[in-house]
Amino acid sequence: MRAGTLPSRWDSGGPKCMEMPEWQAHEYNPDLYILRQSGCTDFEKPFVFLLFGGERALLLDTGSRNGNIAPQIALIVHRWLTRNGRDSIPLLIVHTHAHGDHVAGDAALKALNDAAIPITLIPATVEDNQKIFGIAHWPEDAGAVDLGNRILDALAIPGHQDAGVALYDRQTGILFTGDSVYPGRLYIHDLAAFQKSNERMLRFTAGKPVTHILGNHIEQTRTPYLDYPEGTLWQPQEHELALPRGVLLEIQAGLESMHGKPQRMAYRDFTLWPRAERNPADEARVEAYKQQQRKAMWDQNSP
Ligand SMILES: [Zn+2]
Ligand SMILES: [Zn+2]
Repeated sequence: MRAGTLPSRWDSGGPKCMEMPEWQAHEYNPDLYILRQSGCTDFEKPFVFLLFGGERALLLDTGSRNGNIAPQIALIVHRWLTRNGRDSIPLLIVHTHAHGDHVAGDAALKALNDAAIPITLIPATVEDNQKIFGIAHWPEDAGAVDLGNRILDALAIPGHQDAGVALYDRQTGILFTGDSVYPGRLYIHDLAAFQKSNERMLRFTAGKPVTHILGNHIEQTRTPYLDYPEGTLWQPQEHELALPRGVLLEIQAGLESMHGKPQRMAYRDFTLWPRAERNPADEARVEAYKQQQRKAMWDQNSP
């Protein structure tokens, strides 16, 4: 198992947006980079992951709107090439799921394509994911992709979104779970599918080392049960990104206790959040909150 480190805290959005880069890049180890989009560009502040194998690199997700991700990825790949004494490496781009806050950088990254970084972009659809990962029967079968001495197992995990995929990196023991498991509000679109997907992750990882579960957002504070309001940009007391495999057991118990009847359930490090139709008054309240925060963001002092 190859080791790596996570930062003690991530940047979120502020307090001084003028001083913040659009992306925070963290070297987990020389062949795995974790990037986080600044909340100053979009409140979703998603994480994306860049993994290098012997024959190609893989980018998991492309960030949210206003991310300007392409120069950041180009910089890291070119530095990696220099460090490894190579001229080029193909980059395969896949997605944890199809929501806008994880695919917004697709076009910009596709345009990076050149001799040093030949790009293959896989659209975030069930069909395309089946093909690239070799998943014969969706969502039951597992698939995989080999980056060259680095195999990533792929599990179909619909429920949050129909084309959802989790990747298990055999080299580091990290399970990448997208928006299905992370410290925050786990929005459930299809309860039955979500439960089966969670079971699939539990079964697959049984008896395997799971170093970390890494999802795509942080919405939880460091205070148990407490999350930031939707739309929060600056989150100075954030929960850490990594979760242990045990949360899959908690999620499973919670889902089973619902007996098919969607119900919001708060746990220490996340909330199960079956998604009803959103009401316009709620949307307006969240938007007003975001606007007020955006204004404050340019002119606030550190505590
Ligand atoms: Zn999502
Ligand atoms: Zn998301």
